[in-house]
Amino acid sequence: MSNVLVIKTKEKLNLSSLKKGSIHRLHIQLSDNSLGVPWRVPVIVVKGVGKGPVIGITAAVHGDELNGVSTIFKLLDAVDPKTMKGTLVLVPISNTPGYLMNQRFFLDDVDLNRIMPGKEFGSSSDIYAHFFITKIVKSFDYLLDLHTASHGRVNSLYLRADLEVKESRTLAYLQHPQIIVQKDDDEKTLRGWANRHGIPAITIEIGNPNTFQATLIDETLDGIFNTLRYFKMIPGEVQDFVSHAATVCDHSYWIRSQKGGIIEVFPELAEVVKNGQLIAKVYDVFGQVREKIYSNREGIVIGKNIRPICDSGTRVLHLGVNIQEPLPEMIPGHH
Ligand SMILES: [Zn+2]
Repeated sequence: MSNVLVIKTKEKLNLSSLKKGSIHRLHIQLSDNSLGVPWRVPVIVVKGVGKGPVIGITAAVHGDELNGVSTIFKLLDAVDPKTMKGTLVLVPISNTPGYLMNQRFFLDDVDLNRIMPGKEFGSSSDIYAHFFITKIVKSFDYLLDLHTASHGRVNSLYLRADLEVKESRTLAYLQHPQIIVQKDDDEKTLRGWANRHGIPAITIEIGNPNTFQATLIDETLDGIFNTLRYFKMIPGEVQDFVSHAATVCDHSYWIRSQKGGIIEVFPELAEVVKNGQLIAKVYDVFGQVREKIYSNREGIVIGKNIRPICDSGTRVLHLGVNIQEPLPEMIPGHH
């Protein structure tokens, strides 16, 4: 007996047509490539048996950000559609051309996460983004968008979420992050589009690009299972991870270099740095220090540069600032 599954190719994701109590693996066709063939995005639908929300989980909107791919595969191993309620729509590779080229951007070197929701009549990235939204994302009730740091940088496990909006605050507090950054929706990100269109969304930044990091993936999964418990899609008690372990920041920004050369960055991830602390040195090509970079605020290290080659303006340290006390009631409606 062959064990190979036949994967169906569909024009559009139609959740109501899919059988309950089963896992469905589909290719959804988006815009055309230069062979005249549609880009096909792999979509896995876990259709439970009872009523519940549709939770969409997208990964690799930036094609080289892969921890979310493993997170989705592990989630898939652990859920049983015959007992689960509601629906999971899992998109392990959202930016298929970027994934094929092992790069962040789409084919035309555009960042898909800065042009959402795209345009039906626009550039190649616009059209792809448009169909990604209209054919896939519009079917979600909630969205968890999985990312990592960019090439040459490393991240902690952190969230970007608008904590002032109840639904996204709830999603944020259900996760198991090291750091939460309070952020209004950035214009034209997938999260921003979703939040403005009635699909509460958060961004989960899982470590480093181009790799699988088992510990961070497992912590991400803890948060996703917690989310499924909160929505009663699976049984069990909802955990309050945030008030025990997470640091909540008001906002974050990058400290950049002024000079170019060879850079060494000192603080560790999740380290709290003081105002005035030396965080990096830029050397010239003869080994002499050209620039010493100091932190200009107290804050927690969310991400850092690990690529020694440094131009003027290189992002050096991603600092979360205005660290806040965790709120006493972290998950609205739960104690
Ligand atoms: Zn990303």
